[in-house]
Amino acid sequence: MNPQSVGEAVAQMGVVVAAAGSSRRFGSDKLAVPLRGMTVLQRAVACLRSALPQVPTVVVVRPEDLPARREELTQWGPLRVVPGGAQRQDSVRHGVEALDLDDEALVVIHDGARPFVPPEDVRRVVQAAQGCGAAVLAAPVGDTVKEVTDQGEVVRTWPRERLVRSLTPQVFRVGLLRRAWAAAGGESWTDEAALLESQGFKVMAVPGDPRNLKVTQPEDVSLLAGLFPPDLRVGQGFDVHPLVPGRPLVLAGIPIPHERGLAGHSDADVVLHAVTDALLGACGEGDIGLHFPPTDPQWAGAPSRRFVEFALTRAEEKGWRVVNCDLTVLAEEPRLAPYRSDLVASLAQLLALPPSAVNVKATTTEGLGFVGRGEGIAATAVVLLARR
Ligand code: MG
Repeated sequence: MNPQSVGEAVAQMGVVVAAAGSSRRFGSDKLAVPLRGMTVLQRAVACLRSALPQVPTVVVVRPEDLPARREELTQWGPLRVVPGGAQRQDSVRHGVEALDLDDEALVVIHDGARPFVPPEDVRRVVQAAQGCGAAVLAAPVGDTVKEVTDQGEVVRTWPRERLVRSLTPQVFRVGLLRRAWAAAGGESWTDEAALLESQGFKVMAVPGDPRNLKVTQPEDVSLLAGLFPPDLRVGQGFDVHPLVPGRPLVLAGIPIPHERGLAGHSDADVVLHAVTDALLGACGEGDIGLHFPPTDPQWAGAPSRRFVEFALTRAEEKGWRVVNCDLTVLAEEPRLAPYRSDLVASLAQLLALPPSAVNVKATTTEGLGFVGRGEGIAATAVVLLARR
């Protein structure tokens, strides 16, 4: 089935994302955990929206989470966020009925804690359900599965050839679900497929991507993070200050013994100014002069680490962390080689990086230009930011 033919079935289809769980096993709200720049729930919703863009979608959440979830999901609209019930099965039912579909329609039910499902898998399970009325995505079981007692004693080994892991989406003809619900009374079931099987309805298992994992434990998040390409930004900074008598020379926050120092409004730490601009550049925040104008008296003689700290905070507020920093200092004198490890240590501490992620290079300009004549020192910096 291609996306167009799914699109043609829009009027007969709806999506329910079940997101009303308590995250008890996870320990905190697992749906709000960031996963490469989106929350787990946003990724789950985005998967379904991208596979079935025209299909009406309802996200079922805990009543107390309604305002926050609506806010979180506005950019994936149009979709509706509705309150769930006491158990997953109640929430799914609320979601299905909120869609107000005919019995002949298909409903696609997906776990809000499954942030990765390929669009092809969604379309294949929909196609299977169009044929037989009930289909679930399922992945092969790689490990041998054993049944054990409460004490851990092995009771038996199951033949794994016939076993699959049940995933979502699960897709059902709405009329089948309604009949199963009516017949179920007060029973509980782990998912809607289990309910239908128990009542003798035929449910087809459609092979799906085994990486379609449900976030249950905190470790699952790092497993899943590997599935999404990292979001990276690079920034570069360049700065120059004149060397003059009667000023201390401060580079990367470290006083360097020399008969002249750098002139400037602040402490004129050319290295930290270049690093600040690289950080601001990477996170799209302009440059150092925008935030700390040299005309503002409050920055007279200021230690430049404050500028770096400001830029770091801006980057962090926008969800970025620093990956590494590479720096080149252009100076005819003094020789910086003896201070290289001190400069690295100081920058690493300022940027909260391991020293292995900070590199400092020093070069002369072979006597050429203002640096070659010893009139000033220049510095260039490159930083890489990654989305947390
Ligand atoms: Mg400067």
